[in-house]
Amino acid sequence: MFKMRVSVKKTVQWSFVLTTLYIASVHFFSKRSILSDRRPSLDRGERSWDKTNDVPARSPSRKDRVIQSLSQKRNKSVGYGNQETEHNINNLISDSAFIDNEKDRLEFQRNHERLLPPPEGVKQLNPSKILSGNRTLFTANNNFRKTLLSDIFIGMKTTERYHRQRLDILLETWVKRAKEETFIFTDEEDKEYKLKAGDHLIVSNCSARHSRQALCCKMAAMYDMYLESNKRWFCHVDDDNYLNVNQLVKLLNNYKHTDDVYLGRTSLSHPIEATDRNSPDLKKVKFWFATGGAGFCLSKALALKMKTYAGGGTFKSVCNRIRLPDDVTVGFISEVLLNTKLTQVKLFNSHLQSLWNIPPEKLSQQVTLSYGDKAKHKNIIKLLDGYFNDVEDPTRLLSLHCMIFPDEDVCKRKRPS
Ligand code: UDP
Ligand code: MN
Repeated sequence: MFKMRVSVKKTVQWSFVLTTLYIASVHFFSKRSILSDRRPSLDRGERSWDKTNDVPARSPSRKDRVIQSLSQKRNKSVGYGNQETEHNINNLISDSAFIDNEKDRLEFQRNHERLLPPPEGVKQLNPSKILSGNRTLFTANNNFRKTLLSDIFIGMKTTERYHRQRLDILLETWVKRAKEETFIFTDEEDKEYKLKAGDHLIVSNCSARHSRQALCCKMAAMYDMYLESNKRWFCHVDDDNYLNVNQLVKLLNNYKHTDDVYLGRTSLSHPIEATDRNSPDLKKVKFWFATGGAGFCLSKALALKMKTYAGGGTFKSVCNRIRLPDDVTVGFISEVLLNTKLTQVKLFNSHLQSLWNIPPEKLSQQVTLSYGDKAKHKNIIKLLDGYFNDVEDPTRLLSLHCMIFPDEDVCKRKRPS
C-alpha cells in the first residue's frame, strides 16, 4: 500500500517535470521560428510591425506624436474645447517656421517634449494643468534668444537722382553700422554707388518716378527679398532717414517676432479712408498706417501672413486695389485684411513732423529721424552746439551720428570745440 502511494507520487512528480519541459521547449522553438524569419527584433519604442512592408512600424515623428496626443485628448474632451486644441496644433506647426538656428531648435524640442503623453504608469496630469502646460509650451518663443541686429532686414527705397544727394550721408553714418542688414532698392545702374554699396545696392525693374506704382514696385521687390532672408523682422526706411540701429534692436526686443506686430508712426490724426475696389459694392474701409517716411517694421509672423497679398509681386495689385501708395497699402493689408492693428511708436520720426521740436537730449533715444530739405521750410533737428555746422552738415544727420557715436572715424574730422 505504502509502495503504491510512493509510485503514484513519483508519477505525478515526473509528469509535472515533463509537462514543464514540454511547455518550455515549445516556447523556445516558437521563438526560434521567429528568429529564423530573419526579422529583426523590435527595438524599444517600436511596438508594432508593419505587415505590408515587413519592417518594424515607423516610430511616429515627434510632431506626429504631439498631434496624435493632442487629437486623442480632444477626442476624449478632457476639459478644453476643440477650437483651442486645433489652435494649439496649428500654432505648434507654424511655430516651427520661426526656428532660425540650432540653439532655438533645441529649445523648441525641449519645450515640446513637455507635451508628449506621460510614460505608462505615470499619473496623467489633470486637464487644467495640461492646458496651462500648453500655454507655457506655445509661448516657447519667450525662450528664444535676444533679437540681434543680424535678425533684422532693413530695406531702403531710393531713386537714381537721389544717390549723390542722399545716399552718401547715410553710407558714411548709420548704414556703416548695419552694412550686412541693409539693402538699398533703386531704379538705375550706378557704377559709383555699386562700388560704395556692393551687392547691397539692388537695381529693381521699377521706374524712376515718384508714382504710386513705382513706389509699390520697390516695396514689392523689398518684401520678396525679405522673405528669402528668413529674418525675424522686416524694417523699411526712406533714403532721408537716419536709423539708430542700436535703438532699433532695443525696440524690437520688446516684441516677439512670432507675434503679429506692425510698428510705426502715423502721419495723420485720423484713420485713412480707402475704397476697396475688390468688394462688389466698392466698400469704404478705414484704417491706420505707418508713414513710410518715418520707417516701420513688421514681425516675421505678420510678414509671413502677408504673403498671400504681398508675395511674388502681388503687393502691386493690392496697391491698385485701394489706389494708394505703398506705405498705406501695408497698413491696409495689416489692419484690414489681417486684422493686425498698428502699434504706434513715437520713436519713429518723419519730416512730416516738426523735427526741430524734439528736445536735443531725446534725439539719441529715437529710432529714426529725418530732415525736410525744402529751401523755404527747412525742417531739421535741433542739436546742441558742436560737431558740424549747418553748412558742413545741412541735414544735421552727420552731427547727430557723431553725438551718438563720437568715436566713429567720420566724426574725427572735427571734434566739438
Ligand atoms: N523715391 C523713389 N522714386 C522717386 C522719388 C522718390 O523711389 O521717383 C523714394 C525716395 O528715394 C524716398 C521715398 O521715395 O526714399 C520718399 O521720397 P521723398 O523723400 O522724396 O518724398 P516724401 O514722400 O518723403 O515727401
Ligand atoms: Mn522724404
